[in-house]
Amino acid sequence: MLTARSKDLFTQAQEFIPGGVNSPVRAFKSVGADPLFIKKAIGCTITDADNNDYIDYVGSWGPMILGHCHPQVVEAVKRAVESGSSFGAPTELEITLARMVIDAVPSIEMVRMVSSGTEATMSAIRLARGYTGRDKIIKFSGCYHGHADALLVKAGSGAATFGVPDSPGVPVDVAKNTLTAQFNDLGSVSKLIDENKNEVACIIVEPIAGNMGTVPPGEGFLEGLRSICDSEGIVLIFDEVMTGFRVAYGGAQELYGVTPDMTTLGKIIGGGLPVGAFGGKKDIMKLLSPSGGVYQAGTLSGNPLAMTAGIETLKLLQADGFYERLEQTSRRLADGITKAAKSAGYPIYQTRVGSMFCTFFTSNEVRDWPTAATCDTKAFAAFFRMMLEKGIYLAPSQFETAFVSIAHTEAEIEKTIAAARSCFAAL
Ligand code: PMP
Repeated sequence: MLTARSKDLFTQAQEFIPGGVNSPVRAFKSVGADPLFIKKAIGCTITDADNNDYIDYVGSWGPMILGHCHPQVVEAVKRAVESGSSFGAPTELEITLARMVIDAVPSIEMVRMVSSGTEATMSAIRLARGYTGRDKIIKFSGCYHGHADALLVKAGSGAATFGVPDSPGVPVDVAKNTLTAQFNDLGSVSKLIDENKNEVACIIVEPIAGNMGTVPPGEGFLEGLRSICDSEGIVLIFDEVMTGFRVAYGGAQELYGVTPDMTTLGKIIGGGLPVGAFGGKKDIMKLLSPSGGVYQAGTLSGNPLAMTAGIETLKLLQADGFYERLEQTSRRLADGITKAAKSAGYPIYQTRVGSMFCTFFTSNEVRDWPTAATCDTKAFAAFFRMMLEKGIYLAPSQFETAFVSIAHTEAEIEKTIAAARSCFAAL
């Protein structure tokens, strides 16, 4: 594929934008390639600046569960913009989306909209601290919750990719209140709680870890967190920015039947526009300003275009059999990749929950960050570059989740499996 235009744009971008990108993993640094500059995307096809088409498994890192440019979403947003793009005042649209979210997500009785997942988790943590009067929080190694200071400790995703779990600029005084446990290890959680009796405000967890690759919760893990939080008066926060409306309409909490006290959302609820949300039990949410004293605000929060895209997206997700169809397509793809690796004699460990999946370049079982870190990232990088050359656009890091959309058809799935087969054979 010829990518001269992307290369030229990247050269220009690096002069004006740090690293040439507005979010680090986009730079393709860990896979030893230059990033593609994207011109457009429709359905499951993404097109670069040189007019090359790729089958897209990034889906803007999760939001595009319908595929790109779903006509119903596009039409609704076009209509909305003609009535104004931001008012800084309440609208009926915000009530509509709030109602839809509350109806869908078991733990959410009240919800507030923000403009990113980072804002959602940052605000949820502040509220949990305000509610409990405690300062410490527990997160899990390899889980990413956005880039707020308190959460940029042992984070996965871009931070894991670059091997800098803690960022310069995060004050030691802030990071010291963030305790890190091991995903899928309840013992590591209990130990931290015993060492910090009555000091832990909340446990925040990705119920299906999606930022160290895809790591499902082991049996009893989420239930165990629920019961620890109940007995210790700790607020349990499920960060469902990635899994919300993705693995089921009601998210991972619906899928696993475990209800947290608070939930953070993002990605899909914005239908590709900038939205995040956090919600939970009324007695917690009511502490938020102006009904309570915990401050949180946003100029563009509840923005009418973003609300419109979210509402239309959620409506489409309610179609009969939507998640079953997505499951079937995703299963076919993940099974096909597993078989392709097997027939080439190449060791991988494949994980999948619904339309989230990851091909780990290791023969070990991956259940937490230390086991994810056993992956051969160089082999992944080679695989990524070969797949890209064959027109398959995967996330440019081993420690990311791939997303299937409802727009992926049999033909694209077969093409992807065939590409994987030849890439594994070549490795
Ligand atoms: N939480 C999770 C689980 C995420 O996956 C992400 C982003 N990938 C975030 C929070 C942060 O969201 P945003 O990038 O919108 O700030």
